[in-house]
Amino acid sequence: MRKYLLIPGPTPIPSRVSRAMQKPMIGHRSPEYGEILKRVVENLKYLFQTQNDILVFSSSGTGGMEASIVNLLSPGDKAIALASGAFGERFVKILGSFGIEVIPLRCEWREVIDSKLVARELDRNRDIRAVFATLVETSTGVVNDIRSLGKICRERKVLLVVDAVSGLGVEELRTDDWGVDVVISASQKGLMTPPGLSFISINQRAWEARETSRIYRFYWDFKTYREFLEKGQPPYTPPVSLVFGLDEALKMIREEGMETVWERYKRLAKATREGVKGLGLELLAKGNFSNGVTAVKVPENIDGSELLKVLREKYGVTLAGGQERLKGKIIRIGHMGYIQFKDILVALESLEKALLSLGHRLKKGEAVKRAKEAYK
Ligand code: PMP
Repeated sequence: MRKYLLIPGPTPIPSRVSRAMQKPMIGHRSPEYGEILKRVVENLKYLFQTQNDILVFSSSGTGGMEASIVNLLSPGDKAIALASGAFGERFVKILGSFGIEVIPLRCEWREVIDSKLVARELDRNRDIRAVFATLVETSTGVVNDIRSLGKICRERKVLLVVDAVSGLGVEELRTDDWGVDVVISASQKGLMTPPGLSFISINQRAWEARETSRIYRFYWDFKTYREFLEKGQPPYTPPVSLVFGLDEALKMIREEGMETVWERYKRLAKATREGVKGLGLELLAKGNFSNGVTAVKVPENIDGSELLKVLREKYGVTLAGGQERLKGKIIRIGHMGYIQFKDILVALESLEKALLSLGHRLKKGEAVKRAKEAYK
């Protein structure tokens, strides 16, 4: 049976990327690796829309989140974390574990936190050093307004750190224009590369914060990575084959063009939402829909985990479930990475059959029809 992976990471890998990863091993201190690293960083700058430094780490996205904290802050510092879902809550946890006084701003796990609340909180607490936010809250499929947070933070000289693990390469992100000090991402979602690499962009204000930060660190020290990068090297042995793959994936994205890629995801997301409505299902969010992942409420009379099981076992379609408090209540359709409209149609057709087999009433063929109309 052909398998379809439509989850918000890891995402399917194009054959160009798979082939690139099969190249013979090279040394990570060789001039050849140096060339690749240089090109990868240049192309990442294009994706992040930044002139800032970009460092590449051997870790998943969470490692990048931790790295951003241990390089910028000191125990006892105050920081705001926007927690509108599981990944915003992860910032709250990591910050807390390093002795940062976190002020979490929360909302229902389907909404965005109003930027005005952030401004109000910053004006009330003048000693807050940083705001931590998520571009796309993958657990709810909601995209946050980073542009307005950038403005608020810049006006108040507070650092803004953005987790773009699932947003980079999928959702509009303009690091420099929006004034985002630190942006974190990872290889396994919009970047069509296997898991295992994270990247962080760091501007001058963040480098200054690095100079005064007093959290113990070694492996994650930004400064070490920058010093080595200047020599065209990583400080420690990287997953060389993954970097080959990333290099190829970034070339593909550059060939297509960032704005064209963003537009393509927008269409895929719209078609997915319309298709889902055609199945008679309700979207989790009311608005601010992400272009990379769509969260859908599971009808009351249906067991969410059973639905995912039928899809996987009978139709070869893997979708994601809900996380933490949303477990069993939603399913998530990933349409980031190397996903085409055909894949969305397969997912919708399979969902239709699976839902019917579990007793859900729907109008046959309506999902595909609506998705096609929306995709036009
Ligand atoms: N932040 C966001 C927004 C994510 O979507 C994810 C992964 N789903 C992470 C952080 C964590 O990344 P990882 O699992 O690669 O550590």
